[in-house]
Amino acid sequence: MRMGVHVSIAGSIDKAVDRALERGCDAFQIFSRNPRGWKVKEISLDVASAFASKLERSKMAPAVDHMPYLPNLASPREDIYERSVETLIGELDRCRLLGIPYLVTHLGSHLGQGREAGLQRIVSAISRAPDLCKTVILLETTAGTKNSIGGVFEDIGEILEALDRDDVGVCLDTCHIFAAGYEVRTEDGLENTMERFDDCIGLSKLKLIHLNDSKGGLGSRMDRHEHIGLGQIGEEGIRSILRHDAIRRCPAILETPVDERRDDRGNLEAARGLLPS
Ligand code: ZN
Ligand code: MN
Ligand code: MN
Repeated sequence: MRMGVHVSIAGSIDKAVDRALERGCDAFQIFSRNPRGWKVKEISLDVASAFASKLERSKMAPAVDHMPYLPNLASPREDIYERSVETLIGELDRCRLLGIPYLVTHLGSHLGQGREAGLQRIVSAISRAPDLCKTVILLETTAGTKNSIGGVFEDIGEILEALDRDDVGVCLDTCHIFAAGYEVRTEDGLENTMERFDDCIGLSKLKLIHLNDSKGGLGSRMDRHEHIGLGQIGEEGIRSILRHDAIRRCPAILETPVDERRDDRGNLEAARGLLPS
C-alpha cells in the first residue's frame, strides 16, 4: 500500500517533493497555496517544471492537492459561492500545471439552508469544472459537524449520481467517518461501514484514503486528528482498516499531528507497521 503524508510547500512548491522524500513517502499531499487565505500567487513555469521533474524522478505517486479551507461549495451566499467555484477551477488549473492527478475538496456547509439546497449548490459548482481536465476531483467524507455536507455517505452518493462524471471520486478520511458515527475499529463494524459505502457511493469511486486516528470518539462529530494508533480508533482499529481490500488498493495520506510525541516519519512507521504481512 502506497503511503505518505501532507507536506509544506514553504519556500517553493517543488520543495514539497524534497520534503516528502525526506520523510520516506511513496505518495504525498500539499496545499498548492496558503490554505487560510483567498489570495493566490500564480505558479511560474519554472516552478511548475521543477516540481514536475522532481516528482517524476522521485517515483512517488500520486501527488495530491488539497483545496484551501475558506471555499464553501455549498454556501447560500452568492459572493462566497462564486469565489469558491473560482477557487475550485483555479486549483484544477494549478494541478494541470503541476501534473497532479487528484484534487481533494471538502463539501462545505449549507449554513442552515438545508441539505437539499446544499447538495444542489455543490452539484452546480462541480458541474462548472472543465471536464477535459486530467485531474480527478475527490469529494472528502466529513465528520458531520452541524450543517456540513458529507457526513453521511448518502450525501456523496447523491452528488455523484447527479454529476455522472468519471473525473469525480471520493477520498475517505478514517478520522472523519469514525467521528461521523461509522464504526471502523472491528472487522465486522468496518465491513458493515464499507458495505454502506458501496451501497450509497460504489467502491469503484474510492480513490484515496486519509489515514488518521481520531481524538474524538465514535459519533463525536469532532474533526480532530490523532497520531496513528494513539487515538480512539487505536492500533487494532487501524490494523483492521488496513486489512480491508477496498482500502488497501488505494494510496493513503496521513494528516496526523507533529508534536513531541511523534513526527511524520514516526507516524508513517507506525502505519506501515500495522499493514498485514
Ligand atoms: Zn480534508
Ligand atoms: Mn482529511
Ligand atoms: Mn480533518
